[in-house]
Amino acid sequence: MKYPIIAYGDPVLRRAATNIEPDEYPHIKELVENMFETMYAARGVGLAAPQVGLSMRLFVIDATPFDDDEPELKDFKKVFINAKVLEETGEEWSFNEGCLSIPDIREDVYRKPVVRLSYYDENWKHHEETFKGLAARVIQHEYDHIEGKLFTDKLSPLRKRLIQKKLTDISKGIVNVEYKMKFPAAKKGR
Ligand SMILES: [Zn+2]
Repeated sequence: MKYPIIAYGDPVLRRAATNIEPDEYPHIKELVENMFETMYAARGVGLAAPQVGLSMRLFVIDATPFDDDEPELKDFKKVFINAKVLEETGEEWSFNEGCLSIPDIREDVYRKPVVRLSYYDENWKHHEETFKGLAARVIQHEYDHIEGKLFTDKLSPLRKRLIQKKLTDISKGIVNVEYKMKFPAAKKGR
């Protein structure tokens, strides 16, 4: 089942999400499957639970589309539950990011190249793992979502001003997008 993706401007994208307890969420695998289905339909490489309206520390990633640049990303498909960043290291580098909640906007964003994090997978197995390059990049972007942050927060004041109107339009549903979305400021009937 595909979910509508929550658009920029909805408060759920600004909330720091809460940890999930295993017994609290027995159907986590079904939710994870639905999130992957939603993400693939929108041609994304990552999707976080707040983007489908759930304020939970859960995100899914499939970085396979990046395997042209980094062959080891072929079949890099992972689920991150209750993730916690332990350390980010290295010299910040720029990459052109986009977000399924902010369609039609892509901007260069600086982040550190190496991230170490603690998380559980969909089988509640605990991991402590280090990621680098584009894998780290996608993880950092999705991790921001469960902290209530968006990539546009990291732009310079000038860039932010330049895209402000477009962001407001997105929250109203004034944007061309090929997947189903929920717009917080849309007029009824849109
Ligand atoms: Zn995003």
